Amino acid sequence: MTRVKRGAPTASTRVVAVIGDPVAHSLSPVIHNAAFAATGLDWVYVALPVQRGSGAEAVRSLHALGLAGLNVTAPHKEAAAEACDELTQDAAALRSVNTVVVRPDGGLVGDSTDGQGFIGALDSEGVECAGRTVLVVGAGGAARAVTLALARRGARLIVAARRPDGAAAAARLAPGGVAVTMEEIPAALREASVVVHATPVGMSGEPPPFDTTSLGTGHIVVDLIYRPVETRLLLAAREAGARGIGGLGMLVHQAARSFTEWTGVDAPLDVMRKSVQLP
Ligand code: NAP
Repeated sequence: MTRVKRGAPTASTRVVAVIGDPVAHSLSPVIHNAAFAATGLDWVYVALPVQRGSGAEAVRSLHALGLAGLNVTAPHKEAAAEACDELTQDAAALRSVNTVVVRPDGGLVGDSTDGQGFIGALDSEGVECAGRTVLVVGAGGAARAVTLALARRGARLIVAARRPDGAAAAARLAPGGVAVTMEEIPAALREASVVVHATPVGMSGEPPPFDTTSLGTGHIVVDLIYRPVETRLLLAAREAGARGIGGLGMLVHQAARSFTEWTGVDAPLDVMRKSVQLP
């Protein structure tokens, strides 16, 4: 008789996965497997390396492989949006998908949970952005998701990016949104009280990609990078007397939303936070 170690996956275990290139660094398996254990669900979450260019094919194979759902990370978020049968309002506005849910008929529903994850993280830090001016640095998938979510929340948006067309396209997601260059950031910091850094610069310990000398006690700086937990931008912000918030909170909140979309069960947020050493 085949003995199955208690807690180990069996033939009836539901499987969800994250695809990306690279994906080995992902913290999502840690967060979701902690949540499955805490809720007693016989589910498992794995990371699947999928090469650039194969994202759409991987998403379309989801139902055939019997996976219950999928997370999608760089560089496949746009390809995943193309491969889904149906998109939520956020995913359609952003043409970007980080969560795929398999409908009972096998159809694939794509959602983008980054924006709601970002707002959830700010709420848990007691930061309200309605009526504030927020400077978003970067114009990629995360920057666009954050810009859309903040605009819905009633913030005024300034988007800074190194490509003027990218900044303009992201700023258009927010009514009255303004696009500026990276060099114009010090001037923008006079108007904005919240700064959201949404480029990958800092993941390898590099200094921030903009002049931080105008940061001061009136600023809240949110760095979406979660590895390292303490970036040089956050250090510079705290040295200037600003409040610094890292990206782990957003990671946990976007994961919580995916968890509930797949399982229909309330996400155990405290367990998910603790799994990545958040208080
Ligand atoms: P992305 O789609 O590749 O976008 C990256 C953006 O950064 C682009 O606008 C890019 O400009 C810009 N950029 C890259 N290098 C730059 C530089 N040297 N100077 C100025 N701008 C630069 O990536 P993403 O998915 O938005 O992710 C961005 C960051 O957010 C990553 O660090 C990611 O880990 C983090 N993130 C965190 C969470 C979370 O839950 N905490 C969720 C999503 C993303 P170009 O378009 O000109 O290349």
